Formats: sequence, C-alpha cells, structure tokens
Amino acid sequence: MKRNFTKIIIKNNIRIYLSDLQNLANDILSYHKYLPLPAIILGNSLAVFSPLKFLYDSQKLMIRIKSNGPINSLIMEIQDHDVRALILDPNIVTEYDNKNYNEIPLILGIGDDGSLEISRKIKNEYFNSVTKLVRFDIATDLAYFLNVSDQIFSAILSNVELSSDNPLIFSKVRSIIFQLLPNHTEDDKKWIEDFVANMNIKTLSIKEIEDKIDGKLLETKHLSSKCWCSKEKMIKAILLLPMKEQEELKKDSLEIKCEFCLKTITIKKEDFFS
Ligand SMILES: [Zn+2]
Repeated sequence: MKRNFTKIIIKNNIRIYLSDLQNLANDILSYHKYLPLPAIILGNSLAVFSPLKFLYDSQKLMIRIKSNGPINSLIMEIQDHDVRALILDPNIVTEYDNKNYNEIPLILGIGDDGSLEISRKIKNEYFNSVTKLVRFDIATDLAYFLNVSDQIFSAILSNVELSSDNPLIFSKVRSIIFQLLPNHTEDDKKWIEDFVANMNIKTLSIKEIEDKIDGKLLETKHLSSKCWCSKEKMIKAILLLPMKEQEELKKDSLEIKCEFCLKTITIKKEDFFS
C-alpha cells in the first residue's frame, strides 16, 4: 500500500484521523530539495494539516504559518484532493545538518512568535481563523487552533523523520489527530490523555497504532501532491493587474516560475490574445 492515506476511525465518542503521508511528502520534497530543518518543518505541516481536508470536509484549504523565525512563512494549500506547499525562506543551515538532523527543534526555524491562519471553503462559503503559535512545533499549534477557533477538544501527535542516510528523503511522515465528539464523556477524554501520554508512536508501525486504538474504521482517504498552476491561470492573474503593469508585461514573452512546484511556464505575447 502506498504510504499516502488518512484512516478515519471512531473509538467510543472520539474521532481519530490516523495518517501516513510519506509518499506525498517525498513527492513535494523531491522538487523543493530543502535542507533538513525546513524539510522537517514541511513534513510536520503536511502530516498534521493534510487531514484537515477530511476534518472540515472542505473544497479548498489555505494554511499559513507566519513567524519571526528564519522560515518567515509556510504556505500550504489543498484543493479538491491535491496538496501543494512551500516555505518562503528555506535556506536555513543548522549545526544539525550533517548528523542528528532528526533531533532539530522546530523552533529554530519557526521562531518564538507567530500565527497560524487557516482559511477554508465549505459549500461555497469562506471561513477564516487565526490563532497565535503556542509551542512552535506545529502539532500542538494546530491542536490549540482547533480548541480555540472551533471549540473542539483535540490532541495531535506527529512523527516525522528524514532517512538516516539521505536527508532529502522522508522515512516517516505520520500523524494522529484525536477529536472529542459532542456527546463525549470524561472517560473519552481520559482515554485520549492516556494514549498521548503512554504511546510512543515513533516505535510503532501504523498497523500497530491502529491495533492499539482498537476502534471502528470508517473510511480511508487519499490526497495527492499535485500543483494546479497553469498558463491560463497566470494569464488571468496578469489581466487583473492595473493596465499600465499589464502593458509592460505584455511587451515580450514571459517566463514565470510557480513557487509551489517550481515549474516554469512560458507565456508568449500572442497568448494574451487567444
Ligand atoms: Zn505549480
């Protein structure tokens, strides 16, 4: 089975999103080729934010971490079942780069002040919420976001590792999101707290984690790492600019690089008139 899925499991009054997104994350890292710290920040973001597609049942999601750290911003977007992501300033060299890169504290890249903003399009309506970053580790920051902006008690675990012999390949990109359902009891809350406190997911396979949860599997969902940039969309964006800027751009052929997938799209003069 391709390591690219989210299993939605019900355990008593708890909904659990158990994800393994190793393939998805490796597809994206294969063209960004980030250094270890930005790669691990990217991996953690993909691990915990991707299941939001199913949690919110949204057509489109835009996630943005803005911070005072060297990354500046992380932007991730999900449209239908396609995911794309980037880090604004990914050239961050750390003393962990040659060894122990799986132990880099994310705060070194994210910084210690910032915000998490999530916009979602659900049934053609837009919702937007922002919370501050509280732990600078992405998983806890998302749990805080869900608790504050949606008043849903959530706990989130993530486990992201780069391959020990090649920091351009993820060996693990996994997460578990626990969400209390409205009719929950104190026992449900206690079950989540015990699971989070006692389970070292780093040492377990997804199958073993699923067995420990011992719930009812509702669905298995999939996402792909596809960018939706196109020549038509770029032309449309240019045609929204003020006339003066448009005229300037239309003088010659243009080469525009998509920041998400790094593909270069050539727009010829005549394309504007077709
Ligand atoms: Zn693109």
